[in-house]
Amino acid sequence: MITGLHLFLTYSCNFECDHCFVYSSPRARGTFTFSQIEKVLQEAKKIDSLEIIYFEGGEPFLYYPLMLRSARLAAEMGFKIGIVTNGYFAVSAADAEIWLEPLQELEIVDLSISNDSLHYGEESDNPATRALEAAKKLKIPAEVIEIEEPVITEETGSEENQKVKGAPVIGGSTLLRGRAVEKFAADLPQKDWQVFKECPAEELENPGRVHLDSYGNVHICQGLSIGNMTEEPLAEILLNYQARNHPICRPLIEGGPAQLAREYGLEPRQSYADACHFCYLLRRDLLEKFPRYLAPEQVYGLGD
Ligand code: SF4
Repeated sequence: MITGLHLFLTYSCNFECDHCFVYSSPRARGTFTFSQIEKVLQEAKKIDSLEIIYFEGGEPFLYYPLMLRSARLAAEMGFKIGIVTNGYFAVSAADAEIWLEPLQELEIVDLSISNDSLHYGEESDNPATRALEAAKKLKIPAEVIEIEEPVITEETGSEENQKVKGAPVIGGSTLLRGRAVEKFAADLPQKDWQVFKECPAEELENPGRVHLDSYGNVHICQGLSIGNMTEEPLAEILLNYQARNHPICRPLIEGGPAQLAREYGLEPRQSYADACHFCYLLRRDLLEKFPRYLAPEQVYGLGD
């Protein structure tokens, strides 16, 4: 049952992190207009199970007036509001409060602030820390998102990894999709492609949330679309979605990335770091065949 819509308010970001799974950067294009957001919210009202609208990116505070007005409208329409940010705007404690006070008035239910070495190195007095302190002072529910670089460890990793007896497993919370594949995957231990028989991280059959972008894509996983809002109303896309009729989701459900490769006669190279690494590279090879379902190209590192 779908309960959340996550809007990539913009793909643009002041950072260009190694682990970013949508290839955000200062050059990345793709920002919602207010009129597009109004349409999204009107459609969202038609889906009874929807409770919360998240504004994220990229970095949504780069388009602060748009973010605020959109969040206000969503709140007026009865949705809970969440926002994900890297906190870059908190150049001082006092400034952080100025930026966050309007969110207090909106009674947002979650402010997620990225604060990790991939964003701010080892600097502990950083903008994200100041944003968190200001949020606490203003009594805005806030939490830190800390993404760790993938590391090789014998003790952590997914159950699937641990089934591969004797193999080192991968810890850290970076998802191997998007730019993270380019930056990290080659240095990690690899396993035979045939062991990746399931999608480990997304509810492809019955998604609880989807991501939307300004190009109209409705992402069930980053770059894996179940429809386009410019061609079909959002509510119809969500209410009519049947994973078993989707040319990419169906094989992933039936047998993970290994089945996706078999189904389309793709020749995997022998090994991959994890299922998402394998899936992401397969999908990139299928871009031309399924442009409607694998989009936008920029989250595959092709152009900004
Ligand atoms: S990248 Fe593929 S395998 Fe990984 S969560 Fe997304 S759909 Fe599933």
